[in-house]
Amino acid sequence: MAPVIVLILMSVVIVFFIFYKKPKKKINLPVNYKELLAGHVAYYRNLTDENKTRFEEKIKDFLGYVLIDGIKTTVDDLDRLLVASCAVIPVFGFPEWRYYNLHDVLLYPETFNKDEFLAKGHEKNTLGMVGNGAMQRIMILSKPALHHGFDNPGGKENTGIHEFVHLLDKEDGDVDGLPEALLKRKYNAAWLSLIEKNIEAILEGHSDINSYGATNKAEFFAVASEYFFTNSHQFKENHRELYEFMTKIFNQDPAVN
Ligand SMILES: [Zn+2]
Repeated sequence: MAPVIVLILMSVVIVFFIFYKKPKKKINLPVNYKELLAGHVAYYRNLTDENKTRFEEKIKDFLGYVLIDGIKTTVDDLDRLLVASCAVIPVFGFPEWRYYNLHDVLLYPETFNKDEFLAKGHEKNTLGMVGNGAMQRIMILSKPALHHGFDNPGGKENTGIHEFVHLLDKEDGDVDGLPEALLKRKYNAAWLSLIEKNIEAILEGHSDINSYGATNKAEFFAVASEYFFTNSHQFKENHRELYEFMTKIFNQDPAVN
């Protein structure tokens, strides 16, 4: 073959690999997805119209690259929307964010035995879990806990958000309460000492943050985030310093979204 033809063929192949993008999986949301979100997700209800649209786009995007399956249980449209909401809420301040470290979310009908999943025991009554080892890139959630996080107005717990916050924390390699992917390095020391101060308040009985947050820094970060996103006004009122700091970490102010 003439060298010039070989050159042309090689160029075509190179250009193909540079510009070819895998076709995106098309996601068919149920026709009433806006009503389902408005009916169940207070965070979504409180958004401006413009942000509601952006939230819906993020939900579609998430459902396009993460699979949600039921283990001994069914998965319906609302289940999918709630899982996606738990994923989108903590990263809503980062428009380009994607969970590259997650492939599947498995829903269970009840709590589950974490030992079956090779977890290195760090989870909350096994309502939810981010996998380690062979279960890397898999999140497990109890379906009733997922729903409870949304259908409990005035509550400050949301297992789904808790697990997604662990995943954000894990982005830098360690689940340690220090989300280095989100937090500017100069704030690290201030954040860790703020956590310590608040864990102490829990242990002394001077805090309305769930006592599970006193387990360690990672659990504190996840538990405080549940409260921050599900009951923002009360959190802001009772924990002003934490609230201000967390608006920086998450790059959003959920009390005024
Ligand atoms: Zn946890």
